[in-house]
Amino acid sequence: MSERFIFTRHRTRCYHCGEDADQIIQAVSAQAQVICSACGATRIFIPRFENTGAVGTCTPIGRYDLWTLDAGGRCKNCGVTGPHDLAIGSNHLTTRCRNCGYTHFYRFNLEYMAKRPVDDGVSAPPAP
Ligand SMILES: [Zn+2]
Ligand SMILES: [Zn+2]
Repeated sequence: MSERFIFTRHRTRCYHCGEDADQIIQAVSAQAQVICSACGATRIFIPRFENTGAVGTCTPIGRYDLWTLDAGGRCKNCGVTGPHDLAIGSNHLTTRCRNCGYTHFYRFNLEYMAKRPVDDGVSAPPAP
């Protein structure tokens, strides 16, 4: 990803490992990711639509709290580098330019483990 739009972090309890750890948030036009810095659990969001008008507030559904953050980014609509509002829930991720209101709406696509931080039983004998 050579394009850099949003790159920030949010310290919270990881839904996966339960650690109080930085969750690294990256977003570009084509994709958004949230990665736990402790366990590597990664959530991928893909674009659903972009919108220059106002969007209604999203109803958080699911097992994660809704995070509302702000982050600096360069808006591709108005070209201004400035604060963007981020809202990250279990099923969606949105970024919104505070200057012009341009909104990227991503939906949850998949989840995977980016790395294995500890050897959690690879050498254990297989179950009978
Ligand atoms: Zn974690
Ligand atoms: Zn803008």
